[in-house]
Amino acid sequence: MKNDENNVVSLRKKALERLEDRCLAKQGTQCPVCMNETPETSIPDVTESGVYMDVYCSNCDTSWQNVYSLTGIQSVESPTLP
Ligand SMILES: [Zn+2]
Repeated sequence: MKNDENNVVSLRKKALERLEDRCLAKQGTQCPVCMNETPETSIPDVTESGVYMDVYCSNCDTSWQNVYSLTGIQSVESPTLP
């Protein structure tokens, strides 16, 4: 019984990793399940721990959250700059 539960958890984890890889490969612009190119996106939620955007694919009824992190800054204007 216990082994079956662990197996399901492990299979789910592997499946989620595969979906995440597909999402990252497409920069989060496609549904990772059916590859629909026009999933519905929400306004990004900016928090201290990251930026999160809810995404929903009406084609296959899958929902997920895109997670964004800071990769740099640009267009800096400051009187302290040389
Ligand atoms: Zn889909």
